[in-house]
Amino acid sequence: MVPRRIEVRDLGYRWGSCSRGVVYFHWRVMQLSPWLVEHVVAHEVAHLREKQHGPTFWRLLKRVMPDCENRRNAVAAFGGRDA
Ligand SMILES: [Zn+2]
Repeated sequence: MVPRRIEVRDLGYRWGSCSRGVVYFHWRVMQLSPWLVEHVVAHEVAHLREKQHGPTFWRLLKRVMPDCENRRNAVAAFGGRDA
């Protein structure tokens, strides 16, 4: 899964976003620990294959990041949504 383009911008309350093959990251992601940056990146890259947050999406994310639930909870402590 390779994005068409990657952009860093102010996404408001979201850490990341994926639309039409383009992956967007909030500039604040750079302030997170590498463990959480990895989580945000993996989440958005998984959206390149599966758009919705259904069972298929979570299965895919868990396959590449078995502890994704722990990371998701940890990033939530910094506010925002993983989108
Ligand atoms: Zn998402």
